[in-house]
Amino acid sequence: MAFDFDLIQSVYKQMATKITNARETLNRPLTYTEKILLSHLHGTSELKNYTRGIDYVNFSPDRVAMQDATAQMAILQFMQAGRDKVAVPSTVHCDHLIQAKEGAKKDLQRAESTNKEVYDFLSSASQKYGIGFWKPGAGIIHQVVLENYAFPGGMMIGTDSHTPNAGGLGMVAIGVGGADAVDVMTGLSWELKFPKVIGIKLTGKLNGWCSAKDVILKVAGILTVKGGTGSIVEYFGEGAQSLSCTGKGTICNMGAEIGATTSLFGFDNQMYDYLSATDRKSVAELAYQYKDHLTGDQEVYDNPEAYFDQVIEIDLNNLEPYINGPFTPDLATPLSQFAETAKAKGWPLNMEVGLIGSCTNSSYEDIARAASIAQQALDKKIEFKADFTVTPGSEQVRYTVDRDNLLPVFEKIGGTVLSNACGPCIGQWARHNAENLEENSIMTSFNRNFAKRNDGNPKTHGFVASPEIVTAFSIAGRLDFNPITDTLINKDGQEVQLDPPTGDTLPPRGFNVEDLGFVAPQEHININIIISPESDRLQELTPFKPWDGKDMVDLPLLIKAKGKCTTDHISMAGPWLKYRGHLDNISNNLLIGAVNFFNEETNHIKNQITGTYDTVPSVARDYKANSILSVIVGDENYGEGSSREHAAMEPRHLNVGVVLVRSFARIHETNLKKQGILALTFANHSDYDKILEGDRFAIKGLDHFATGKPVQVEITHQDNSSEVVVANHTYNSLQIEWFKAGSCLNYIKNINK
Ligand code: SF4
Repeated sequence: MAFDFDLIQSVYKQMATKITNARETLNRPLTYTEKILLSHLHGTSELKNYTRGIDYVNFSPDRVAMQDATAQMAILQFMQAGRDKVAVPSTVHCDHLIQAKEGAKKDLQRAESTNKEVYDFLSSASQKYGIGFWKPGAGIIHQVVLENYAFPGGMMIGTDSHTPNAGGLGMVAIGVGGADAVDVMTGLSWELKFPKVIGIKLTGKLNGWCSAKDVILKVAGILTVKGGTGSIVEYFGEGAQSLSCTGKGTICNMGAEIGATTSLFGFDNQMYDYLSATDRKSVAELAYQYKDHLTGDQEVYDNPEAYFDQVIEIDLNNLEPYINGPFTPDLATPLSQFAETAKAKGWPLNMEVGLIGSCTNSSYEDIARAASIAQQALDKKIEFKADFTVTPGSEQVRYTVDRDNLLPVFEKIGGTVLSNACGPCIGQWARHNAENLEENSIMTSFNRNFAKRNDGNPKTHGFVASPEIVTAFSIAGRLDFNPITDTLINKDGQEVQLDPPTGDTLPPRGFNVEDLGFVAPQEHININIIISPESDRLQELTPFKPWDGKDMVDLPLLIKAKGKCTTDHISMAGPWLKYRGHLDNISNNLLIGAVNFFNEETNHIKNQITGTYDTVPSVARDYKANSILSVIVGDENYGEGSSREHAAMEPRHLNVGVVLVRSFARIHETNLKKQGILALTFANHSDYDKILEGDRFAIKGLDHFATGKPVQVEITHQDNSSEVVVANHTYNSLQIEWFKAGSCLNYIKNINK
């Protein structure tokens, strides 16, 4: 049994009282979102009417989930905190590092050998610290979480942006960076800006070719990739209750594509059935007992405009399938207009590959409905024109659809079954024509379709649709096709048409599996975690030095970054992904994407020791070798983008002492504080213009560093003239302690002593 019944029971017991108190305090009915958030307030946050989109609030999530690419640095940091075990139930899922090439078995074997060191580290660290470990091949994080851990009314964070998938089982599940996961695993609170709430009312019932995927594809078209920013999307209405639990999961999963903090549905019979089918009847019964707390108050749904920040209504009776893309998931085209649009826009009409599955669409229902289309191709003697792959989301789903003769249908039509892993969804795809960078079209049932996402080719036009639509288009092999209206010519030269898909929501004979691939944490175990000093993928972290109690003087400017400087500019992804567990190696990408203000070039800055120009990491390493702290100067919203902690750890590792900018993206600012870097903003934005190449900085009076008290920054130019500018900061008293200790982790370790 992977799930923790006692934890769920304790959450429900407290929830009842907390929701009653919240309703009284706010003096109004509550959305489901508010019920979960307000019943998970951390002890440091009082119960009050928080201003949505403004107030920062501390929460206590029930669980943490991490995927293998992000878990490495999260666990390396956790090791620094001096805790024996994680404070909340946590899991690691090995899904991102498996490359799709020859099919499930061989791909898995190759990944196990290529990534052995990383898997051994994650598995032994999981055992040591009490973390559940899901082996490579066990499945994709979000599908495994839905099948085993998600529960209505719960709150979790996960180090992956599609963590909201668990909203399909009524959970507030939010994607975060590794540093946030470390906070929660060490028992600290987790901070979030109290979100706005968007209500989406679903009426009617899906029919014909339509599936849950089409709901979110339509929503993405309405709200665009930014429309959900800072908001939780709450679905309600009879249409919501008619959707299967896994269909709800698909909708919540792709809520990440509209920028939503998360999405969720209230508890209903579909969730009850899914919990029961996945061996959690006890949780289903418990949730049923507390069902009034596990959905929004009826007054809210009767008068949604009064309680939600925005309301959208979608009639499922009249919904039609959508195909979104290329290059962005919010370019939504209804199926009836797709062929004409594809021709008009000049998209490559030949569709080369159809890919179904992934964490977004690999439920039993998804596979069954797609298989019903593939079976028609066999029965009606129509050949698949496009290549075809299936990525099951978990070993439990794979085993069950294989047992029920659904998976073999795809093999009969020449499809390839890939590992239960991310594979082509995250670019881990050795596509046969990878060296050929021609324009081409592919269609997937995944969630993202940005340029290069799947195969690294910027000219691959990636379209996103439901698994059944992808399967139908793979048969036709063309974009100018509509399975609802068009016929195809079969091997006998006859005109045939596809019927709408059919398929069970849940396996009639129940789920089954021989080996889940789960290693449960053990109570008493003593394991030494060995990281080879020769490794180029893993490196044990060395605690950053505490502040020496002195003013910072004579700090050279490292770089004055011009314009947009996101976490991607600071710590690039792509080929650097493999170094996510090795701080020194990944630091070789420090700020290589940032534009140097003085020459408008990237990765070409002046070294003040030698007077020559070099790459940012080389100059920073030279300063470090000479025990010199340096300063990064940045523009507006410095560090926007992801919550990747590497963007703060790398400069700290390479001896950056101060980051002084016009303004920060909030999460990055917090990450810098956590790593012990002084994060400052120009009190006068135009002072950014005073910074010249070759400047040196002094931050004086740090022994009086205090909350709300600006800091004086003395700038000495190359001609020895100097001036003082005022810098603001947002450190609270705890964060000042982090700075003094050298990092948040040092501080935690110190108080544990
Ligand atoms: Fe992310 Fe794709 Fe993996 Fe899902 S399948 S977790 S979207 S990489």
